[in-house]
Amino acid sequence: MRIPDPGTARLTALIAWLAPPADDPALAQAQLGVLAWQIPLLFIILNATALILAATHLRCAPPLLTILMPAIFCLACFMRLRYWRRLDLAAIDGPGALARMKTTTISVAILGIVFTAWSLALYPYGDAYARCHVAFYMAITVISCILCLTHLRGAALLLTAIVVLPYTIFFLSTGNLVLIAMDVNFVLVAAGLILLMLRNNNDFARRVGLQHETQRLSDENLRLAHLDGLTHLPNRRQFFAELDHVITSATTTGATFAVAIIDLDRFKSVNDTYGHAAGDRLLEQVGQRLASIASSALFIARLGGDEFGAILKTEPDEAAISAFGARVSHLLEPAFTIPAGALASIGCSIGVATYPHTAQTAADLFERADYALYDGKQHHKGQTILFSQALETRIRQSCQIEQALRHADLEAELWLAFQPIVEIETGQTIAFESLARWNSPTLGSVPPGIFIPIAEHCQLINHITEILFAKMLDAIAACPAPVRFGFNLSPHDICSRETMARLHAMIAQSGVPPWLITFEITEGALLQDFDLAAEMIEALHQIGARIALDDFGVGFSSLGYVHRLRLDKIKVDQSFVHGIERSDTAPKIIRAILDLCRHLELDCVIEGAETESELALLRGLGARFIQGFYYSRPMPFAAIAAFLAAEATPPASALATPRQRRQKMLTS
Ligand code: C2E
Ligand code: CA
Ligand code: CA
Repeated sequence: MRIPDPGTARLTALIAWLAPPADDPALAQAQLGVLAWQIPLLFIILNATALILAATHLRCAPPLLTILMPAIFCLACFMRLRYWRRLDLAAIDGPGALARMKTTTISVAILGIVFTAWSLALYPYGDAYARCHVAFYMAITVISCILCLTHLRGAALLLTAIVVLPYTIFFLSTGNLVLIAMDVNFVLVAAGLILLMLRNNNDFARRVGLQHETQRLSDENLRLAHLDGLTHLPNRRQFFAELDHVITSATTTGATFAVAIIDLDRFKSVNDTYGHAAGDRLLEQVGQRLASIASSALFIARLGGDEFGAILKTEPDEAAISAFGARVSHLLEPAFTIPAGALASIGCSIGVATYPHTAQTAADLFERADYALYDGKQHHKGQTILFSQALETRIRQSCQIEQALRHADLEAELWLAFQPIVEIETGQTIAFESLARWNSPTLGSVPPGIFIPIAEHCQLINHITEILFAKMLDAIAACPAPVRFGFNLSPHDICSRETMARLHAMIAQSGVPPWLITFEITEGALLQDFDLAAEMIEALHQIGARIALDDFGVGFSSLGYVHRLRLDKIKVDQSFVHGIERSDTAPKIIRAILDLCRHLELDCVIEGAETESELALLRGLGARFIQGFYYSRPMPFAAIAAFLAAEATPPASALATPRQRRQKMLTS
């Protein structure tokens, strides 16, 4: 390797120092930005002063110097001005800026040589004033050039050298003391200006560096402010910013798109079972899987909790939406590894709204996708639901019902109907299930299947439960026979310590023996918070009340709860009985459940028997207890006494059918 001699090394270092900053593209861009208006200024000054000098020599110097040369200067300056005006600074990167600054340095050097030669050529013409004007012209022009080239120090120094050296030699050679004094003045001012320029130059570089760093930090902050910390997907804020952006461009282009909300199913049970750290790990992996399908046509963000948002920027027809839903479900299907080597399986429900068909604003689109999701969660878990007009009507009705519930005199408008649970063999009622009824003065009679879920949604359920429970305690106390009464608890009741404490207090105050009460709970309560629900169930057992697991067989994991909880009764969902005569599987399932209950010593009530043939079939399968329209529809309390009385005096086989029972009730 050849080691350069110190002189060459120093020269190389000097040239590198004078050259534009090759290692700092941001600084080069900033310098070009300033030069973009200072260089045109320099050209205008150069040209104007040259024209004035030419004018003062018009009479005494040849036209080549006073007319032709200034005309060429004007043309050259005009072309350079055009070049700088047309420069698109935003489109020029660091290397581009460097290249332009090098060209500028060369053109400044050429200009310096041409202008110096021209002005020295003019010097011999004219009188002493005119000669002084030449000296003044050169000095003032160099000073303006240094000022305009502060951000291109190489060019400024080169130009100063090109002008000052010949100028000094020339004026020293005239022997004229005034001119020599002017030259000394000029050299001193130029040196001072150069020093100032170098200093400003360093300050400028530092300022640009600082600005750049500040910009970088603020960009990074902005990026972080729009990212979700856990999944590194865009966050809720970014989701809505993107949605606004997509809507704005769709209004001009006429494009259509869809907004989807993806909500994880069973995430809560992972969180509850394995803890929040495991829940976080799972969310991270969900984020990674969803990120893998994100593209310019599919924007995906985490909205918070276990909810993710997507914007499908392609034509949102039904095929595309169901393909999207299938893709996301498929993506989330494989089990997730969570700490301690455990595997967790979750699914997702998706609500979708389309633009512009279902809504035109970001808020409306999101709200409707959310409604669709809510509907999906309630009735079609694990599916993709597209917001529809029918859904909107249902939601409107729900809102109406919610309003009516909020303003209702619940104490007066709610009442209980009672449906008997009958032992097939004896035909005797062993219990009544209490079923809520609501007579709204504005809406009429609203079925519990409609108003109970709404009451749960708007947190009125606990209040309603307490009112109904008081009514049931009154009914038990007034019942002519000591039959048991079933009472439905919502998941929100069993998972509320306050409500359960109040129910305990009400039982104690009423004097009703707790063993007459069977609380019916559904799997929903156990999914919400298993440990709390189990604790509340145990407390009910402690006082002697009984527990039934309702709607057995339709949930996800009813069987899993049977051995984990202290239950007394299982109520098989009526969906197994409807159409049982035409079904191959339903009788087998019912038989299996009956066997299971026999082994576990649990009572088993089959719900929904409506006809004699259904009853016969169930009886054949080994069913003992039936609740269904076959025996009786739910009845008001006032009818209970007659119903029980009709049962108490059966002339043996004659009273086997419900019609005969009813006839007896009417005639007695
Ligand atoms: P559930 O607890 O499964 O109650 C049984 C439902 O099945 C009742 O509907 C009853 O009228 C109906 N049913 C009984 N036998 C037959 C039959 O043979 N055929 C047909 N088609 N239906 C039959 P209802 O009273 O409309 O109650 C619907 C649901 O509303 C209940 O289902 C329960 O989940 C809820 N619910 C009712 N009352 C209350 C309450 O006081 N509190 C709570 N939290 N939920 C209640
Ligand atoms: Ca029930
Ligand atoms: Ca049921």
